Amino acid sequence: METFNAANNIQDLQFFGEFGGVNPSISDSSTYTFLSAKTMFDTFEGNTDGCYLYSRHSSPSNLYLAKALASLEGTEGANVTASGMGAITSSLLQLCKSGDHIVSSRTIYGGTYAFMKNFLPDFKIQTSFVDITNLEKVEAAINENTKVIYCESVSNPLLEVADIEALSQICKKHHLKLIVDNTFSPLSISPQLLGADITIHSLTKFINGSSDSVGGVICADQQFIDDLKSVNTGACMLLGPTMDSLRASSILKNLRTLHIRMKKHSENAMFLAEKFEKDGLIVKYPGLKSHKNHELYKRIMHAEYGFGGLLTLDVKTVEKANELMELMQNENLGYLAVSLGFYKTLFSASGSSTSSEIPEEERMEMGLSDGLIRFSIGLDHDIERTYEKMKWCMKKVGLI
Ligand SMILES: *Cc1c(COP(=O)(O)O)cnc(C)c1O
Repeated sequence: METFNAANNIQDLQFFGEFGGVNPSISDSSTYTFLSAKTMFDTFEGNTDGCYLYSRHSSPSNLYLAKALASLEGTEGANVTASGMGAITSSLLQLCKSGDHIVSSRTIYGGTYAFMKNFLPDFKIQTSFVDITNLEKVEAAINENTKVIYCESVSNPLLEVADIEALSQICKKHHLKLIVDNTFSPLSISPQLLGADITIHSLTKFINGSSDSVGGVICADQQFIDDLKSVNTGACMLLGPTMDSLRASSILKNLRTLHIRMKKHSENAMFLAEKFEKDGLIVKYPGLKSHKNHELYKRIMHAEYGFGGLLTLDVKTVEKANELMELMQNENLGYLAVSLGFYKTLFSASGSSTSSEIPEEERMEMGLSDGLIRFSIGLDHDIERTYEKMKWCMKKVGLI
């Protein structure tokens, strides 16, 4: 039997347009007609397949994209959302009710952290934040109200790698759901194959890849997807984080080149990480032997896609970080911007931007220094040339 290959799975999906178009038609409608009133009733009850009711529930364009993303992650189903946060908040609110408890990695996307830390307690949902690489600590944090373990496959911004297989064992033992945000490592890591129950992406990043759209997806078994879309109790249906059909259609087209882009992002990031390390800089990249989770990543990855496009450089102070980033931007090496997965290199100082929701004391404890620059390495054609220019910048600000 052929082993799981996400890129082949996506390639094999064919969706034709209404007139034989090579891209599926966009469903430019918010509502749908029925030939009989009985079919409309049955659709409300969730008993009709292939019938559309109202586009907050589902639409053909969103279902095409969802199908492609389910085949990316090897899950039964998927539901696309208007943003990554829409996917994360809907999943957590579907699984956790008043009185419930979450065990979460402490190194996660700032918005996810803020949601668990500041927003959910008002609904009596508490979260314990732990070092997700310390399995004893993870298990010790579980209590009788715990419903979910939450982590990122490769964490933002510290690039720690979660041992999804081991976490999944813990979840099975305690009857919990394992949610994995796989935004940093599409194609490279397949959480579902390692035992995750729910895999989430911010499509805004690598999957769309052109920094022109915001989107998210929840990949899971069909039961959970149906639960999310239930007209009576579904978080996606009732909170309304619905993706627009035009966006779904454009993201699907970009998904078709993801496998090529991921290889190039990884190749370029690996090249720079090795060079920076040789130059004596404090660089973290999971592809480097010096990275504390290098062996784990190697064990779980689909090797052809490499170790991803993100690396961090610790230049100690926020002043030095700002000086370097401004200089690199002036030299046209990338943009001083948050987000990731763009064709152009993007860099930002995480402590003062995307992780600023995390209190300074906690940032220090987890090793998130003020001078930490997160790089999302672009698709540069000649990475050696890019490196020479970056090195010139590093010299100019006195780092090497
Ligand atoms: C950006 C990001 C999110 C949030 O996604 P949006 O599309 O911006 O809502 C969640 N998790 C990770 C790891 C991210 O990088």
